[in-house]
Amino acid sequence: MSEHITTVAGVAVDTRHWIGGERVASAATFTDVSPIDGSVLGEIARGTAAEAAAAVAAAREAFPAWAATPREERARILHAIADGVERRLEELAVVETADNGALLRSHRRGVMPRVAHNFRFFADWLLRLDHEDFDTRGHTNHVSWDPAGPCVLITPWNAPLMLATWKVAPALAAGDTVVLKPAEWSPLTASLLADIAAEAGLPAGVLNVVQGYGSEIGDALTSNPDVRRISFTGSVPTARHIAASAAANLTPLSLELGGKSPLLVFADADLDLAVDLAVEQYDNAGQVCLAATRILVEETVAEEFTRRFVDRASDLRQGDPRDEATDIGPTIHPRQLEKIDGFVQRAVAAGARAVIGGHRRDGRYFAPTLLTDVAQDSEIVQEEVFGPVLTLQTFGDEDEAVRLANDTRFGLAATLATGDPERARRVTGQLVAGTVWVNCFFVRDLQAPFGGSRHSGVGREGGTWSFDFYCDLKNTVTSPKGWKDHG
Ligand code: NDP
Repeated sequence: MSEHITTVAGVAVDTRHWIGGERVASAATFTDVSPIDGSVLGEIARGTAAEAAAAVAAAREAFPAWAATPREERARILHAIADGVERRLEELAVVETADNGALLRSHRRGVMPRVAHNFRFFADWLLRLDHEDFDTRGHTNHVSWDPAGPCVLITPWNAPLMLATWKVAPALAAGDTVVLKPAEWSPLTASLLADIAAEAGLPAGVLNVVQGYGSEIGDALTSNPDVRRISFTGSVPTARHIAASAAANLTPLSLELGGKSPLLVFADADLDLAVDLAVEQYDNAGQVCLAATRILVEETVAEEFTRRFVDRASDLRQGDPRDEATDIGPTIHPRQLEKIDGFVQRAVAAGARAVIGGHRRDGRYFAPTLLTDVAQDSEIVQEEVFGPVLTLQTFGDEDEAVRLANDTRFGLAATLATGDPERARRVTGQLVAGTVWVNCFFVRDLQAPFGGSRHSGVGREGGTWSFDFYCDLKNTVTSPKGWKDHG
């Protein structure tokens, strides 16, 4: 077997880049380690500006033919990729779990089926994409979605293949070509996706995958003048860096960033439902951008809510993510664990009280934590922790609830637990958030716009909004005059 192939949970994964339909090695490599037990999963190609340039050049070369490929054919190939994902679902699930430590049962039943759905959804949406012609003083306006060109797609480690394909699928459907750069902590399933796309008949150069450290390869991607779109999911500091890098070429950006979302629990809520919603925020060990990490509870029910929450949370099982019984897996990386611990220790030093958790467990885990006695302007309430750490504050009335909910620099999502539909409408109207869930959480439909306000992002993707971003929209105005008879 090639020195460039690593075997992860019995699955062979190529550790090189995928550029122009070929595997390409780099002079250097970086070590990919499993969050489950620290074992080495592989030595991954450590890309540089040279590989970034080669990948963009390949995407540029492949662009005209892919853009000219009829929609129906593009859609057929996207469905073939979805077939490949479904065929290799178990392999993708076990590799992703080994690589990022999220629950195997979630990967099997939720995440990987959703990866396939990403391709099917945007393939089907492409075929329905249309805008009715309209008339201006007898002239016809026709709107078309023209492919934009090579796109750079940069994704994080918390849901690697799901977040990558949520960008790759619409970009390919739109007729664009792609350079995908996954996070260095979770590089493996992007490599498998390259294999699956090639097997599905995607022409060489239409999808390229490059591996490497953030800036080391990233700057050469985001500053390349041949890149027509950059879609990024990740942290605010990196987004700022990318925006500056893209500025010279005015490359359009879609930025999906962090959050510090609230869960508002009103006294009229079904309290058991509210507790379920709160406990759900520990999913993926809290490494979820949308997580409602600030629980805001109406004073009159705060004590009862907290009692029931502690009861429910104490049932959660933390451990090996491959075990079906596990609810919370490890933190992705020792550096992330340090970060989480730092946030919690500083909060406690500032007067917060850990109702549950507040400490590490067994090296790789952070215990599910609920902190009270936190000030609105404190770091723990204002900054994204990206770990299983929730804060609990109380409010006296609806106005105060809305004020606290909106009082961070983020605006990604908000969740409401209330028994009163009128209140739900009133409060929703005042919240700054890209998504609001009422008496539910994480119900995501690909046809809905998705993104954040304020520092949670720029732009929206999903359904037609994805095509708006990945296409150059063109309006053609045709006069009724001037036609010659070619009959
Ligand atoms: P980072 O911003 O650190 O990294 C995200 C990606 O950007 C990685 O692939 C990273 O590569 C890459 N990168 C880093 N520096 C550069 C650069 N200079 N140029 C180009 N690319 C670069 O975020 P995390 O991976 O830590 O992810 C966590 C963050 O993502 C959280 O803030 C979370 O809220 C957010 N997120 C947002 C979501 C949303 O939809 N709104 C969904 C999921 C997460 P490398 O790994 O090599 O550093």
